[in-house]
Amino acid sequence: MEHVSDLGTWRSYANEQRASGRGVALVPTMGALHEGHAALFRAAKASGDVVIATLFVNPRQFDNGDDLVSYPRTPEDDALIAKENGVDCLVVPTLESMWPDYPHATSTTVSVHGVGDLFEGAERPGHFDGVASVVAKLFILTGPCRAFFGEKDFQQLAVVRQMVRDLALEVQVVGCPIVRDPDGLAVSSRNRYLSPDARRRALSLSRALAGVGNPDTASNHRRHLREVLDGAGIVTSYAEIVDPVTFEVCSDDEAGVRRALVAAVVDGVRLIDNAAVTLVPRGA
Ligand code: AMP
Repeated sequence: MEHVSDLGTWRSYANEQRASGRGVALVPTMGALHEGHAALFRAAKASGDVVIATLFVNPRQFDNGDDLVSYPRTPEDDALIAKENGVDCLVVPTLESMWPDYPHATSTTVSVHGVGDLFEGAERPGHFDGVASVVAKLFILTGPCRAFFGEKDFQQLAVVRQMVRDLALEVQVVGCPIVRDPDGLAVSSRNRYLSPDARRRALSLSRALAGVGNPDTASNHRRHLREVLDGAGIVTSYAEIVDPVTFEVCSDDEAGVRRALVAAVVDGVRLIDNAAVTLVPRGA
């Protein structure tokens, strides 16, 4: 596995791969790698492309300075996990090279309105501006590629897809299924901060989602999510049924496959989860 930090070397590496006839797969991460990231690496590898993984804790997407400072950093383990799961080139750019003016306001910002303003965008002001801006830069540096993202961050995936459509970027976005621990909890770098008791309560997110497996109206699904979360001793941020592209809230007239979203704070740790859900109109 190659290790790269310089932006010019990264750009040349990707250009050389394409010149020699290989496709390029990109897997953006913020490090503290776990099985969810490893599954993305393996999916990228299975596509037959040369796999570039990036590891960059992007300060511009943190709406809370404490969260940025306490974000886990495990560079040695990350390199091992990347190597063992098929990454060909691990890119760890410096903050100065990615955002030369940081912490002063950076002039260029990519904002994806609509989908980027709702839910996580509303709860964490500026978050998706930070995400879209950094992902745009990763795409520009990598060049034409297939980019792998997890459905764990389903709204992030929608924001990235919207940006690629609107800016006609030469990137094929591939969404990959959520990896869960055996007890159902979606794997996340933040789970390490959960005490055993908090973890037990955090399971209410996946339990609520598992309970919306049968077709029903949007209101009934929403009520079910709320009931499970409200009874679990956690602070629910939102529990909604939304259109998977626009993230607009679904009405009871709608039919078909939509997305159930849940977000909650469990003992100070913010967790999100989601699942596909089937709607049938009221009275059908
Ligand atoms: P992060 O390092 O948290 O920014 O995540 C990097 C990528 O890994 C994003 O595309 C995430 O959606 C994805 N990811 C994180 N956790 C999981 C998971 N449990 N299952 C699938 N993908 C995940």
